Amino acid sequence: MIPALLSNYAPADLSFEKGKGPYLYGNDGRRYLDFAAGIAVSGLGHAHPRLVAALTEQAQKLWHVSNLFRIPGQEELARKLVDATFADAVYFCNSGAEANECGIKMVRKYFSTNGQPEKYRIIAFENSFHGRTLATIAAAGQEKLLAGFGPVVDGFDHVPVGDIEAVKAAITDETAAILIEPVLGEGGIQVVEPEFMRALRTLCDERDLLLMLDEIQTGMGRTGKLFAYEHAGIKPDILTSAKALGGGFPVGACLAVEKVAKAMTVGSHGSTYGGNPLAMAVAGTVVDVMSEKGFMDHVVEMGNHLKQGIVGVIDRHPDILEEIRGIGLHLGLKCKVENTLVSNKLLELGVLTAKGGDNVVRLLPPLIIEDDEVSEFINLLDEACTELENG
Ligand SMILES: *Cc1c(COP(=O)(O)O)cnc(C)c1O
Repeated sequence: MIPALLSNYAPADLSFEKGKGPYLYGNDGRRYLDFAAGIAVSGLGHAHPRLVAALTEQAQKLWHVSNLFRIPGQEELARKLVDATFADAVYFCNSGAEANECGIKMVRKYFSTNGQPEKYRIIAFENSFHGRTLATIAAAGQEKLLAGFGPVVDGFDHVPVGDIEAVKAAITDETAAILIEPVLGEGGIQVVEPEFMRALRTLCDERDLLLMLDEIQTGMGRTGKLFAYEHAGIKPDILTSAKALGGGFPVGACLAVEKVAKAMTVGSHGSTYGGNPLAMAVAGTVVDVMSEKGFMDHVVEMGNHLKQGIVGVIDRHPDILEEIRGIGLHLGLKCKVENTLVSNKLLELGVLTAKGGDNVVRLLPPLIIEDDEVSEFINLLDEACTELENG
Protein backbone atom coordinates (compact mmCIF):
# COMPACT_ATOMS: atom_id res chain seq x y z
CA MET A 1 0.00 0.00 0.00
CA ILE A 2 1.20 3.46 -0.83
CA PRO A 3 0.34 6.53 1.25
CA ALA A 4 -3.04 8.00 0.37
CA LEU A 5 -1.28 11.33 -0.09
CA LEU A 6 0.77 11.54 -3.27
CA SER A 7 4.46 11.31 -2.43
CA ASN A 8 5.70 14.23 -4.54
CA TYR A 9 6.97 16.14 -1.51
CA ALA A 10 9.37 15.18 1.27
CA PRO A 11 8.14 17.36 4.13
CA ALA A 12 9.94 17.65 7.45
CA ASP A 13 8.26 15.52 10.09
CA LEU A 14 6.71 18.57 11.68
CA SER A 15 3.31 20.21 11.55
CA PHE A 16 1.87 23.32 13.13
CA GLU A 17 -1.14 24.20 15.16
CA LYS A 18 -1.13 27.95 14.72
CA GLY A 19 0.96 30.96 13.90
CA LYS A 20 1.31 34.49 15.18
CA GLY A 21 3.46 37.16 13.58
CA PRO A 22 6.91 35.67 12.85
CA TYR A 23 6.31 32.56 14.98
CA LEU A 24 4.75 29.18 14.30
CA TYR A 25 3.56 26.86 17.08
CA GLY A 26 4.27 23.20 16.34
CA ASN A 27 2.11 20.24 17.18
CA ASP A 28 5.22 19.09 19.05
CA GLY A 29 4.59 21.86 21.60
CA ARG A 30 7.56 23.97 20.46
CA ARG A 31 7.68 27.52 19.13
CA TYR A 32 9.51 28.16 15.86
CA LEU A 33 10.95 31.37 14.45
CA ASP A 34 9.66 31.35 10.89
CA PHE A 35 12.39 32.51 8.49
CA ALA A 36 10.81 30.57 5.61
CA ALA A 37 7.43 32.34 5.66
CA GLY A 38 5.86 29.56 3.61
CA ILE A 39 8.47 30.23 0.90
CA ALA A 40 8.25 34.04 0.85
CA VAL A 41 4.45 34.00 1.12
CA SER A 42 3.61 35.14 4.65
CA GLY A 43 5.03 38.63 4.12
CA LEU A 44 2.88 40.06 6.90
CA GLY A 45 3.53 37.12 9.19
CA HIS A 46 0.91 34.71 10.51
CA ALA A 47 -2.59 35.70 11.58
CA HIS A 48 -2.08 39.38 10.81
CA PRO A 49 -5.12 41.02 12.46
CA ARG A 50 -6.05 43.03 9.37
CA LEU A 51 -5.83 40.02 7.06
CA VAL A 52 -7.85 37.89 9.47
CA ALA A 53 -10.49 40.62 9.61
CA ALA A 54 -10.58 41.05 5.82
CA LEU A 55 -10.95 37.32 5.22
CA THR A 56 -13.54 36.61 7.90
CA GLU A 57 -15.61 39.67 6.98
CA GLN A 58 -15.70 38.60 3.33
CA ALA A 59 -16.30 34.95 4.28
CA GLN A 60 -19.53 35.93 5.98
CA LYS A 61 -20.77 37.77 2.92
CA LEU A 62 -19.76 35.96 -0.26
CA TRP A 63 -17.12 33.46 -1.33
CA HIS A 64 -17.50 32.91 -5.03
CA VAL A 65 -19.54 33.93 -8.05
CA SER A 66 -17.11 33.28 -10.99
CA ASN A 67 -16.12 35.77 -13.65
CA LEU A 68 -19.56 35.57 -15.26
CA PHE A 69 -20.25 38.54 -13.00
CA ARG A 70 -18.38 41.67 -12.01
CA ILE A 71 -16.28 41.31 -8.87
CA PRO A 72 -15.82 44.75 -7.28
CA GLY A 73 -12.81 43.55 -5.27
CA GLN A 74 -10.98 42.78 -8.55
CA GLU A 75 -11.62 46.24 -9.91
CA GLU A 76 -10.41 47.80 -6.64
CA LEU A 77 -7.25 45.72 -6.37
CA ALA A 78 -6.44 46.18 -10.05
CA ARG A 79 -6.71 49.94 -9.55
CA LYS A 80 -4.38 49.80 -6.52
CA LEU A 81 -1.78 47.75 -8.41
CA VAL A 82 -2.00 49.96 -11.49
CA ASP A 83 -1.56 53.08 -9.34
CA ALA A 84 1.44 51.56 -7.55
CA THR A 85 3.29 50.20 -10.60
CA PHE A 86 4.21 50.52 -14.30
CA ALA A 87 1.07 48.57 -15.28
CA ASP A 88 -2.12 49.65 -17.02
CA ALA A 89 -4.17 46.48 -16.42
CA VAL A 90 -4.16 43.38 -14.22
CA TYR A 91 -5.41 39.80 -14.61
CA PHE A 92 -6.03 37.69 -11.50
CA CYS A 93 -5.45 33.95 -11.08
CA ASN A 94 -4.64 31.55 -8.26
CA SER A 95 -0.92 30.84 -8.28
CA GLY A 96 2.47 31.86 -9.58
CA ALA A 97 2.65 29.31 -12.37
CA GLU A 98 -0.75 30.44 -13.60
CA ALA A 99 0.36 34.07 -13.59
CA ASN A 100 3.38 33.11 -15.70
CA GLU A 101 1.16 31.09 -18.07
CA CYS A 102 -0.89 34.22 -18.58
CA GLY A 103 2.22 36.31 -19.18
CA ILE A 104 3.55 33.83 -21.75
CA LYS A 105 0.19 33.77 -23.51
CA MET A 106 0.12 37.57 -23.48
CA VAL A 107 3.51 37.70 -25.21
CA ARG A 108 2.29 35.40 -27.98
CA LYS A 109 -1.10 37.07 -28.33
CA TYR A 110 0.42 40.53 -28.52
CA PHE A 111 2.57 39.70 -31.55
CA SER A 112 -0.12 37.56 -33.15
CA THR A 113 -2.62 40.42 -32.84
CA ASN A 114 -0.09 42.78 -34.37
CA GLY A 115 0.40 40.67 -37.46
CA GLN A 116 3.62 38.93 -36.36
CA PRO A 117 2.51 35.45 -35.21
CA GLU A 118 5.96 34.12 -36.15
CA LYS A 119 7.33 36.02 -33.17
CA TYR A 120 6.59 33.66 -30.29
CA ARG A 121 9.91 32.61 -28.77
CA ILE A 122 10.99 33.80 -25.34
CA ILE A 123 14.58 34.09 -24.13
CA ALA A 124 14.84 32.92 -20.53
CA PHE A 125 17.77 32.25 -18.22
CA GLU A 126 19.66 29.23 -16.99
CA ASN A 127 19.06 28.30 -13.38
CA SER A 128 15.71 30.09 -13.18
CA PHE A 129 12.37 28.88 -11.85
CA HIS A 130 8.94 29.83 -13.17
CA GLY A 131 6.55 27.17 -11.82
CA ARG A 132 5.52 23.58 -12.51
CA THR A 133 3.06 23.69 -15.40
CA LEU A 134 4.17 22.35 -18.78
CA ALA A 135 4.92 25.81 -20.18
CA THR A 136 6.62 27.14 -17.07
CA ILE A 137 8.97 24.14 -16.71
CA ALA A 138 9.88 24.71 -20.36
CA ALA A 139 10.44 28.39 -19.57
CA ALA A 140 12.91 27.48 -16.83
CA GLY A 141 14.42 24.81 -19.04
CA GLN A 142 16.08 22.87 -16.23
CA GLU A 143 16.46 19.15 -16.82
CA LYS A 144 15.46 18.34 -13.22
CA LEU A 145 12.07 19.99 -13.84
CA LEU A 146 11.52 18.57 -17.34
CA ALA A 147 12.65 14.96 -16.89
CA GLY A 148 9.89 12.44 -17.51
CA PHE A 149 7.28 14.84 -18.78
CA GLY A 150 7.58 14.20 -22.48
CA PRO A 151 7.89 16.71 -25.30
CA VAL A 152 8.99 20.08 -23.99
CA VAL A 153 6.67 22.99 -24.77
CA ASP A 154 8.30 24.81 -27.69
CA GLY A 155 9.31 28.43 -27.65
CA PHE A 156 12.00 28.98 -25.03
CA ASP A 157 15.71 29.65 -25.48
CA HIS A 158 18.14 29.76 -22.58
CA VAL A 159 21.25 31.82 -21.92
CA PRO A 160 23.35 32.51 -18.79
CA VAL A 161 22.28 35.42 -16.56
CA GLY A 162 24.51 38.47 -16.86
CA ASP A 163 25.81 37.71 -20.35
CA ILE A 164 24.28 40.39 -22.58
CA GLU A 165 26.24 39.20 -25.63
CA ALA A 166 24.68 35.74 -25.23
CA VAL A 167 21.25 37.34 -25.09
CA LYS A 168 21.93 39.31 -28.26
CA ALA A 169 23.21 36.21 -30.01
CA ALA A 170 20.08 34.27 -29.06
CA ILE A 171 17.70 36.82 -30.65
CA THR A 172 16.18 35.69 -33.96
CA ASP A 173 13.28 36.89 -36.11
CA GLU A 174 11.08 34.61 -33.99
CA THR A 175 12.05 36.16 -30.65
CA ALA A 176 9.17 37.91 -28.92
CA ALA A 177 10.28 38.53 -25.36
CA ILE A 178 12.83 38.20 -22.60
CA LEU A 179 11.70 36.62 -19.30
CA ILE A 180 13.73 36.99 -16.11
CA GLU A 181 13.50 36.92 -12.31
CA PRO A 182 15.20 40.09 -10.93
CA VAL A 183 16.68 37.80 -8.29
CA LEU A 184 16.92 34.09 -9.08
CA GLY A 185 15.16 32.83 -5.96
CA GLU A 186 15.03 29.05 -6.21
CA GLY A 187 18.40 29.35 -7.94
CA GLY A 188 19.91 30.46 -4.63
CA ILE A 189 19.18 34.21 -4.32
CA GLN A 190 21.33 35.15 -7.28
CA VAL A 191 20.86 38.91 -7.61
CA VAL A 192 20.74 40.07 -11.23
CA GLU A 193 22.89 43.21 -11.61
CA PRO A 194 20.81 46.38 -12.18
CA GLU A 195 23.07 47.18 -15.16
CA PHE A 196 22.08 43.87 -16.74
CA MET A 197 18.39 44.59 -16.14
CA ARG A 198 18.82 47.99 -17.80
CA ALA A 199 20.70 46.42 -20.71
CA LEU A 200 17.80 43.98 -21.21
CA ARG A 201 15.32 46.86 -21.24
CA THR A 202 17.39 48.72 -23.84
CA LEU A 203 17.73 45.59 -25.94
CA CYS A 204 13.96 44.99 -25.80
CA ASP A 205 13.33 48.58 -26.93
CA GLU A 206 15.84 48.33 -29.77
CA ARG A 207 14.71 44.93 -31.03
CA ASP A 208 10.95 45.29 -30.49
CA LEU A 209 10.77 42.64 -27.75
CA LEU A 210 8.64 42.56 -24.61
CA LEU A 211 10.32 42.45 -21.20
CA MET A 212 8.52 40.09 -18.83
CA LEU A 213 9.56 39.94 -15.18
CA ASP A 214 8.76 37.04 -12.87
CA GLU A 215 8.40 38.83 -9.53
CA ILE A 216 6.49 36.03 -7.87
CA GLN A 217 9.18 35.70 -5.20
CA THR A 218 10.86 39.14 -5.34
CA GLY A 219 7.63 41.14 -5.38
CA MET A 220 5.33 42.46 -2.67
CA GLY A 221 7.98 44.13 -0.57
CA ARG A 222 10.43 41.25 -0.24
CA THR A 223 13.40 43.32 -1.48
CA GLY A 224 12.33 46.56 0.21
CA LYS A 225 10.41 47.83 -2.82
CA LEU A 226 6.91 46.80 -3.81
CA PHE A 227 8.54 45.18 -6.87
CA ALA A 228 12.26 44.62 -7.43
CA TYR A 229 12.35 46.22 -10.89
CA GLU A 230 12.23 49.57 -9.08
CA HIS A 231 15.83 49.01 -7.90
CA ALA A 232 17.04 49.05 -11.53
CA GLY A 233 15.01 52.11 -12.50
CA ILE A 234 13.37 50.33 -15.44
CA LYS A 235 9.83 49.31 -16.31
CA PRO A 236 8.77 45.92 -17.66
CA ASP A 237 5.95 45.28 -20.15
CA ILE A 238 4.58 42.32 -18.24
CA LEU A 239 5.09 41.35 -14.58
CA THR A 240 3.84 38.39 -12.59
CA SER A 241 3.07 38.37 -8.89
CA ALA A 242 1.82 35.69 -6.48
CA LYS A 243 3.32 34.32 -3.23
CA ALA A 244 3.17 37.29 -0.80
CA LEU A 245 0.38 38.99 -2.77
CA GLY A 246 -2.16 36.96 -0.81
CA GLY A 247 -0.12 36.66 2.39
CA GLY A 248 -1.07 32.96 2.50
CA PHE A 249 -4.36 33.06 0.64
CA PRO A 250 -3.83 31.60 -2.87
CA VAL A 251 -3.80 34.33 -5.51
CA GLY A 252 -1.71 35.35 -8.51
CA ALA A 253 -1.66 38.34 -10.81
CA CYS A 254 -0.32 39.22 -14.22
CA LEU A 255 0.27 42.94 -14.78
CA ALA A 256 0.77 44.47 -18.21
CA VAL A 257 1.15 47.74 -20.08
CA GLU A 258 -1.74 48.92 -22.24
CA LYS A 259 -0.47 47.75 -25.64
CA VAL A 260 -0.07 44.19 -24.35
CA ALA A 261 -3.21 44.14 -22.22
CA LYS A 262 -5.29 45.24 -25.21
CA ALA A 263 -4.46 42.02 -27.03
CA MET A 264 -6.22 39.96 -24.34
CA THR A 265 -9.71 40.30 -25.72
CA VAL A 266 -12.94 38.79 -24.39
CA GLY A 267 -12.68 35.00 -24.22
CA SER A 268 -8.91 34.87 -24.79
CA HIS A 269 -8.04 33.66 -21.30
CA GLY A 270 -9.67 32.95 -17.96
CA SER A 271 -9.97 31.05 -14.71
CA THR A 272 -13.00 29.92 -12.71
CA TYR A 273 -11.59 30.85 -9.34
CA GLY A 274 -9.31 33.66 -10.55
CA GLY A 275 -9.73 36.80 -8.47
CA ASN A 276 -12.53 35.44 -6.34
CA PRO A 277 -13.96 37.68 -3.58
CA LEU A 278 -12.02 35.98 -0.77
CA ALA A 279 -8.69 36.34 -2.55
CA MET A 280 -9.42 39.95 -3.47
CA ALA A 281 -10.40 40.91 0.08
CA VAL A 282 -7.13 39.54 1.46
CA ALA A 283 -4.79 40.71 -1.33
CA GLY A 284 -6.36 44.16 -1.31
CA THR A 285 -5.56 44.43 2.39
CA VAL A 286 -1.99 43.17 1.83
CA VAL A 287 -1.45 45.97 -0.67
CA ASP A 288 -2.97 48.52 1.74
CA VAL A 289 -0.72 47.46 4.61
CA MET A 290 2.40 47.44 2.43
CA SER A 291 1.53 50.89 1.02
CA GLU A 292 1.56 52.50 4.44
CA LYS A 293 4.28 55.03 5.11
CA GLY A 294 7.44 53.47 6.48
CA PHE A 295 6.63 49.85 5.58
CA MET A 296 9.33 49.47 2.93
CA ASP A 297 11.84 51.47 5.02
CA HIS A 298 11.29 48.91 7.76
CA VAL A 299 12.04 46.04 5.36
CA VAL A 300 15.27 47.75 4.26
CA GLU A 301 16.29 48.45 7.87
CA MET A 302 15.61 44.90 9.08
CA GLY A 303 17.42 43.53 6.04
CA ASN A 304 20.47 45.64 6.85
CA HIS A 305 20.47 44.61 10.51
CA LEU A 306 20.10 40.96 9.59
CA LYS A 307 22.92 41.15 7.04
CA GLN A 308 25.25 42.94 9.45
CA GLY A 309 24.64 40.34 12.14
CA ILE A 310 25.13 37.48 9.71
CA VAL A 311 28.42 38.95 8.44
CA GLY A 312 29.63 38.71 12.06
CA VAL A 313 28.56 35.07 12.29
CA ILE A 314 30.31 34.26 8.99
CA ASP A 315 33.51 35.87 10.37
CA ARG A 316 33.32 33.67 13.45
CA HIS A 317 32.54 30.49 11.49
CA PRO A 318 34.36 30.66 8.16
CA ASP A 319 34.43 26.87 7.84
CA ILE A 320 30.63 26.62 7.97
CA LEU A 321 29.39 29.73 6.14
CA GLU A 322 30.70 31.52 3.10
CA GLU A 323 28.61 34.51 2.13
CA ILE A 324 25.34 36.39 2.71
CA ARG A 325 23.69 37.79 -0.40
CA GLY A 326 20.38 39.28 -1.48
CA ILE A 327 18.37 42.49 -1.19
CA GLY A 328 16.08 43.58 1.65
CA LEU A 329 14.69 40.49 3.37
CA HIS A 330 15.29 38.24 0.34
CA LEU A 331 18.52 36.70 1.60
CA GLY A 332 20.65 33.71 0.73
CA LEU A 333 23.22 32.25 3.09
CA LYS A 334 25.80 30.42 1.01
CA CYS A 335 27.25 27.56 3.00
CA LYS A 336 30.68 25.88 3.03
CA VAL A 337 29.22 22.70 4.48
CA GLU A 338 26.16 21.12 2.85
CA ASN A 339 23.22 23.56 3.14
CA THR A 340 20.99 20.77 4.48
CA LEU A 341 23.26 20.45 7.54
CA VAL A 342 22.79 24.14 8.33
CA SER A 343 19.03 24.20 7.75
CA ASN A 344 18.51 20.98 9.76
CA LYS A 345 20.59 22.32 12.65
CA LEU A 346 18.58 25.56 12.60
CA LEU A 347 15.37 23.54 12.62
CA GLU A 348 16.64 21.62 15.66
CA LEU A 349 17.19 24.97 17.36
CA GLY A 350 13.70 26.16 16.41
CA VAL A 351 14.30 28.19 13.24
CA LEU A 352 12.60 27.48 9.92
CA THR A 353 14.43 28.30 6.68
CA ALA A 354 14.10 27.30 3.01
CA LYS A 355 16.90 25.70 1.04
CA GLY A 356 17.82 27.03 -2.41
CA GLY A 357 20.14 26.17 -5.28
CA ASP A 358 23.91 26.80 -5.20
CA ASN A 359 24.18 25.36 -1.66
CA VAL A 360 22.24 28.26 -0.20
CA VAL A 361 19.92 28.45 2.79
CA ARG A 362 17.26 31.03 1.99
CA LEU A 363 16.27 33.43 4.75
CA LEU A 364 12.79 34.74 3.95
CA PRO A 365 11.38 36.10 7.21
CA PRO A 366 8.04 37.86 7.40
CA LEU A 367 8.61 41.52 6.51
CA ILE A 368 7.17 42.57 9.88
CA ILE A 369 10.06 41.16 11.95
CA GLU A 370 11.63 43.48 14.50
CA ASP A 371 15.13 43.79 15.95
CA ASP A 372 14.30 41.26 18.69
CA GLU A 373 13.72 38.55 16.09
CA VAL A 374 16.80 39.60 14.15
CA SER A 375 18.89 39.19 17.33
CA GLU A 376 17.21 35.89 18.16
CA PHE A 377 18.05 34.60 14.70
CA ILE A 378 21.67 35.80 14.83
CA ASN A 379 22.19 34.09 18.20
CA LEU A 380 20.66 30.83 17.01
CA LEU A 381 22.65 30.89 13.75
CA ASP A 382 25.81 31.39 15.79
CA GLU A 383 24.85 28.48 18.03
CA ALA A 384 24.04 26.29 14.99
CA CYS A 385 27.47 26.97 13.51
CA THR A 386 29.23 26.24 16.81
CA GLU A 387 27.38 22.93 17.13
CA LEU A 388 28.23 22.02 13.53
CA GLU A 389 31.92 22.80 14.20
CA ASN A 390 31.89 20.59 17.26
CA GLY A 391 30.49 17.84 15.08
C1 LIG B 1 7.23 30.19 -6.48
C2 LIG B 1 7.59 30.71 -7.82
C3 LIG B 1 6.84 30.39 -8.97
C4 LIG B 1 5.68 29.43 -8.94
O1 LIG B 1 4.63 29.84 -8.12
P1 LIG B 1 3.52 28.75 -7.72
O2 LIG B 1 2.53 29.55 -6.92
O3 LIG B 1 4.21 27.69 -6.92
O4 LIG B 1 2.94 28.22 -8.96
C5 LIG B 1 7.21 30.96 -10.16
N1 LIG B 1 8.26 31.79 -10.24
C6 LIG B 1 9.01 32.12 -9.17
C7 LIG B 1 10.15 33.07 -9.31
C8 LIG B 1 8.72 31.57 -7.92
O5 LIG B 1 9.47 31.87 -6.86
